[in-house]
Amino acid sequence: GAQPGGLYSPADPLVLLQVDTLERRVLNSSSAWLVEFYASWCGHCVHFAPTWRALAADVQEWRPAVNLGVLDCAEMANQKACGKFGITGFPTLKFFKAFSKNPDDGMKVFHPGNSVESLRQSIVIHLEMHKETWPPACPPLEPASMEEIQGFFQANNVTYLALIFEKNDSFVGREVTLDMLQYENVAVRRVLSSEEELVKKYNVTTFPSAVLLVNNGTFCRIQVQIEARSFYTHYLRQLPGVTQGSSTPTVAPDVQIKTTPMPWRPADRSKVYMADLESALHYALRIEVARFSVLTGERLKALKSFVAVLAKYFPGRPFVQNFLRSVNRWLRNVSGPSVPYRALELVLTNRKEGLAPAVLSNNVTWVGCQGSKPHFRGYPCSLWTLFHLLTVQATKHRRLSTGPLEVLGAMRGYVRWFFGCRECAKHFEGMAAESMDQVSTVNEAALWLWSRHNRVNARLAGTETEDPKFPKRQWPPLDLCPPCHDMVNGRHVWDEAAVLRFLKAHFSPANIFLDFTV
Ligand code: FAD
Repeated sequence: GAQPGGLYSPADPLVLLQVDTLERRVLNSSSAWLVEFYASWCGHCVHFAPTWRALAADVQEWRPAVNLGVLDCAEMANQKACGKFGITGFPTLKFFKAFSKNPDDGMKVFHPGNSVESLRQSIVIHLEMHKETWPPACPPLEPASMEEIQGFFQANNVTYLALIFEKNDSFVGREVTLDMLQYENVAVRRVLSSEEELVKKYNVTTFPSAVLLVNNGTFCRIQVQIEARSFYTHYLRQLPGVTQGSSTPTVAPDVQIKTTPMPWRPADRSKVYMADLESALHYALRIEVARFSVLTGERLKALKSFVAVLAKYFPGRPFVQNFLRSVNRWLRNVSGPSVPYRALELVLTNRKEGLAPAVLSNNVTWVGCQGSKPHFRGYPCSLWTLFHLLTVQATKHRRLSTGPLEVLGAMRGYVRWFFGCRECAKHFEGMAAESMDQVSTVNEAALWLWSRHNRVNARLAGTETEDPKFPKRQWPPLDLCPPCHDMVNGRHVWDEAAVLRFLKAHFSPANIFLDFTV
């Protein structure tokens, strides 16, 4: 079964890393590592997981040279480690060369197409970046020359040498080389089509194609049905005398942190829960913002706006309100262009004198946002809820308002500069750029967020990120708000005046319940 909370299971051919194994396994390792840092609540990570799993299966025999790992940054215990490794969005892929010393030695790997093939090629390219500290188990990947081939059997105690002739941009040769790295008595080298002497010597006319050299001086064309990686690999593994090496490293299963499943917290859909809201504050300020060790420029501005609207409009318990106001005051007073997160953290945990006691719990408790599985709902659900609440509260405290876009602008900035689901942030920014500036009243702001959220719901309905126990529907459903729904000429329409009344009642302090808060 799946790891508690994670998207991957011990049955997958990759290493499930945890806070206590991350550095020990990945740093100072004799193999390179490619690690996916993900958050189980992030829909795009859920989409990406099958690709990552397929990649891991595809390159599992490359393991002594390169290992694949995953770390769930949404797990409380792992969050500090993700910060230390500089993870600011999900999923993030980082390649660590063999013998990497520090968390920042990881190189970000881009994965625009999300195809197994392009990721696999990316691994090859990154392996080639090793210079003096080549991973000991990784065979040479550079193209072979005439001199090297001529002296090969004197220098290497193997029976066979397979030469893969290919064009410069082909990966087949290097992939077969890595596929065969655990096999004894055979070596594989790529030869470029531009290496004219070798091409002529072995009568090669098409690329890719392969030639097998034997240490008795004979050679033959490798006959395969299709000139492709899996066919060459299969052919070579069948050769007499070629065996899988006894040194095959078996990857010891990592000890898993056992988490006891949380008891189900019954929630009522017609209510808003303070536990969700306070958990959103904790997660946003203590985890998402903490991923940036220094806050400057637009990001610092976004943080200030976010905290300012929280201080003004968050209808929290008195000690939470005091806390938000003191954080806001502190942020207003910082002089200079940047704030180290460490300084903010002292304020958030009140290790500075004269500020409110540490109020944010060190944990999250989802109630209205609880999912049927740990990777459903949770934080993104609570962030929506928080911002709906803030847009509605701004309609009730117009005296305090600096304009109709105050809360929406703060949300836009927060999502853009901090929200870990980067794909979500891109989509949201698209919607904001399209129409947010047309909002001209605080009421319209609350309705704008409601209607954009419904667009997101429509887009995500039926996808694998949908919790089957909480299907994505247009909200509020008929049973929550009958007057919100109307029919005109046989078509469903929203009664926006009724929706606004409903939003104001739903996201009001009177409808916020304290169940499961401590
Ligand atoms: P959510 O959609 O999170 O809603 C939370 C709660 O808000 C609901 O339970 C309901 O009580 C209430 N609600 C629902 N609809 C409305 C509404 N229209 N108005 C007011 N209240 C409402 N996931 C992706 O996979 N792809 C994305 O591109 C993406 N973009 C996102 C952008 C933002 C800014 C955020 C905050 C999240 C995004 N997500 C995205 C996550 C996704 O929208 C959900 O938050 C997540 O899948 C959890 O869904 P949920 O069922 O808990 O309900």
